[in-house]
Amino acid sequence: MDKYTGKALYNGIAIGKILFYKKDNGNIKKSAVDDINGELERFEKAKAEAIRQLKELHKKAVAEAGETSAAIFEVHAMMLQDEDYNDSIRNIIIGQCVNAEFAVAVTGNNFAKMFAGMEDSYFKARAVDMEDISDRVISNLKGKSFDITLENEPVIIVASEITPSETVRMDKNKVAAFVTHHGSSNSHTAVFARTLGIPALMGVNVKEEWDGKNAVVDGYTGTLFINPDEDLIKHMSLKQNRDVCDRNTFNEYIGQETVTKRGKKVRLYNNIGRVSDIDSVIANDAEGIGLFRSELIYLESNRFPNEDEQFLIYKKLCEKMNGRETIIRTLDIGADKKVGYFNLKDEENPAMGYRAIRICLKEPEIFKVQLRALLKAACYGNLSVMYPMITSISEILQIRKLIDEVKAELKREGISYRIPKQGIMVETPAAALISDELAEYVDFFNIGTNDLTQYTLAASYQNEKIDDFYNPHHKAVFRMIQMVINNAHKRGKWVGICGELASDASVTRRLVRMGIDELSVAPMMTLQIRKIIRDME
Ligand code: PEP
Ligand code: MG
Repeated sequence: MDKYTGKALYNGIAIGKILFYKKDNGNIKKSAVDDINGELERFEKAKAEAIRQLKELHKKAVAEAGETSAAIFEVHAMMLQDEDYNDSIRNIIIGQCVNAEFAVAVTGNNFAKMFAGMEDSYFKARAVDMEDISDRVISNLKGKSFDITLENEPVIIVASEITPSETVRMDKNKVAAFVTHHGSSNSHTAVFARTLGIPALMGVNVKEEWDGKNAVVDGYTGTLFINPDEDLIKHMSLKQNRDVCDRNTFNEYIGQETVTKRGKKVRLYNNIGRVSDIDSVIANDAEGIGLFRSELIYLESNRFPNEDEQFLIYKKLCEKMNGRETIIRTLDIGADKKVGYFNLKDEENPAMGYRAIRICLKEPEIFKVQLRALLKAACYGNLSVMYPMITSISEILQIRKLIDEVKAELKREGISYRIPKQGIMVETPAAALISDELAEYVDFFNIGTNDLTQYTLAASYQNEKIDDFYNPHHKAVFRMIQMVINNAHKRGKWVGICGELASDASVTRRLVRMGIDELSVAPMMTLQIRKIIRDME
């Protein structure tokens, strides 16, 4: 039995087999082949398999997300059968006597470049699809799975690094734990692991040879055991069962009000990223959704999600929440949340760069699609909208102008809509410092302590080397929170926290004493936080 340590992101125990996840970085080797016909046949087989996989995916996606969202898999299957694409691959194999992997990679690249250079945004977006279908065929040629499809039994995903978009491509019910070498414990991969209640370790010197081995992840001590012996498995199973029991004791807080003994009521909401997370919101009896990270819809797609697709998702959220407040944050893409079809350039300093509301205001044609979907969906429930990365009043005024335009368009088109309550994220020191003025323009504030901490302390949450400098408990962060609460209350507005600090049980009492009105926490933390608040004098 071997033992390794790392930084634990979520307390919990996982026991299972390791799946070593390796990124295919596109380094396909060119090699000469003698059997040209055999190589052509390999390509045909890999392509047929890809089409079969896409049909399956389409079926699954129709059931889970509806016909519109699923359509992309049909498009992919069609693209794979495109004559020009196939001719190019065959010509390279025959003309250069090379391996099919190389021919597919070169063709995929050429076609992607051609699409990327097109004016029309629809065709531009096909560039990513080209890369996607080619990667799928290459994976089949190599006999590897392309989708981050996981075994039936939950597995421990081990990787050098996992990006947020890779995290969202995995079926979370099949992930027992994450173990990575790189990545900061404050990154979004870590945030997602905590949101889902999945034990995770970072900073472990991972090895590919672990693939398929039995392992145990102890998220309490930050230990990974490879080839654990019987005694350890027994001991860890007991610990796992104890976790379940602890969770059961919290269950007695289901249906109870989140209120201190003196009667101070705190709204206890949840942070989520998908419609399917609502089951967990309801199971944990949260009183609303304080942060729906709408960028996940974009991260999970390989083209811009259209108005109908978004509308259906927001409508479903409202309906499922059945009258409970549902705060949808508008697109917060950029920085560590990137997706190919946005064609975002690499920046020296992405966290301080072109992201979130800055993209939305510079590219209103993208933003307005989301605003239209939100205003339409607001008719179906208690929907509120929240804007990320605000630094000035002028941004709010620009948003208002766009809302007015969208409203006028919908009216002209005879489409029903409702103007929801609108708030902003306070996640920049600028917003905190002028919160007295901003309060007049919004219905509520929601403090994003993840970004507020990194900007206040000049310490990126993505840099594992400075994890110790990234301290959400820093006096400066708490002073800002207090300032925002005071400024909002003076103008009769409410303030919540939806950053990770809200889920940090060690500061719950302090935040409540400071006057916080709402805490939006990871679903798994809801009942534990409710217990703390109910036990408060
Ligand atoms: C935050 O910054 O605290 C926040 C909730 O936003 P993000 O999605 O960037 O973590
Ligand atoms: Mg943020």
